[in-house]
Amino acid sequence: MEMSKYMEQSESYVLHTYNRFPIVLEKGKGVYLYDTDGKEYLDFAAGIAVFALGYGNEAYNQALKDQIDQLIHTSNLYYNVPMGEAAEKLVKASDMDKVFFTNSGTEAIEGTIKVARKYAYLKDGGTDHEIIAMKHSFHGRSLGALSVTGNTHYQEPFKPLIGGVKFAEFNNLNSVKAQITDKTCAIILETIQGEGGIYPAEKEFLEGVRALCDEHDILLILDEIQCGMGRTGNMFAWQDYGVQPDVMTCAKALGCGVPVGAFVLNKKVAEHSLVPGDHGTTYGGNPLACRAVSTVLDLFESEQIVEHVRKTTVYLEQKLDEIVEEFDCVEGRRGKGFMQGLIIKGKPVGEVVNQALGNGLLVISAGSDVLRLVPPLIITEKDIDEMILKLKKSL
Ligand SMILES: *Cc1c(COP(=O)(O)O)cnc(C)c1O
Repeated sequence: MEMSKYMEQSESYVLHTYNRFPIVLEKGKGVYLYDTDGKEYLDFAAGIAVFALGYGNEAYNQALKDQIDQLIHTSNLYYNVPMGEAAEKLVKASDMDKVFFTNSGTEAIEGTIKVARKYAYLKDGGTDHEIIAMKHSFHGRSLGALSVTGNTHYQEPFKPLIGGVKFAEFNNLNSVKAQITDKTCAIILETIQGEGGIYPAEKEFLEGVRALCDEHDILLILDEIQCGMGRTGNMFAWQDYGVQPDVMTCAKALGCGVPVGAFVLNKKVAEHSLVPGDHGTTYGGNPLACRAVSTVLDLFESEQIVEHVRKTTVYLEQKLDEIVEEFDCVEGRRGKGFMQGLIIKGKPVGEVVNQALGNGLLVISAGSDVLRLVPPLIITEKDIDEMILKLKKSL
């Protein structure tokens, strides 16, 4: 079928909540995607920071095929083998204590909001606790997650949202301090803001927030949905800061394409929050999703993904900095590891993204003026060279 026919079919029957790029993707191999006309795209978007291992990783695909033949779903009324395995690996990778598996990042955020409220409720019996979130943050689109997302445009039509949420300036400790009351139960932030425009937390800021949380017995929730899973050259972005959260959320690359998320708790919170009856999900922790998580974590080790990211970041940053030097419309670079943003000035970033698409390069935007690069974590210097060539042409 012609590509335009597939697009027409989707536009006829799928609710129009996305203005999609005019290509229909059909298959992938390594760091390349192919549309139904056979055109090749170098993928520096990875399905929004999801496909960390690239397309068609044989061990990953085989594990999923085996699991499909064995058992796809059981519900949480019974134990299953992959869930325990995936949870143990995630706990060990993060040096945390307990995991709750969800089906998406948004649901992981929802769970952490309940965790924070329950933790505070057990302390003082109050039901009017507050959460401090950051301006320009993104945590998801369901009502709870939207309530802590610092974007009034996303929020406005859906009010009233959940109450008790206050917003502070990211990387401004005084602004956070000013919002703390005796009702504050949690501070939630992305270790590196993604959708908002690739803003890494500053070390002093994160340390300061951690100290505030310790001082007032407030839970620090770090949203690692986009920046976690090796993307920054650490398994989790906070590991580079030496600041550990009380609760962490994961999704995106966690299952490398199989829809799965998680929230991970330290011991203190695991022992003083949710108990049977407080929270649940039919699919969450299902054998297929957890086999994906378990396999992804194995492959991260055996293929030394984190080390590869750390090593290759030097080259990526050097090449991107050359672009900043060379092009007037590129004002600067922000980011860490394989989560990089180029600040575009003097023309809409969407124009560059569209040009790149035409030139066979998939990149995405973030915030109002940032070109975002979140490639599969397996890219090599050769892939970076090809990306730079195509990006230059697009600029
Ligand atoms: C993508 C994202 C979410 C939402 O995850 P979904 O899987 O889309 O529900 C939440 N927080 C951050 C930081 C994200 O990047």
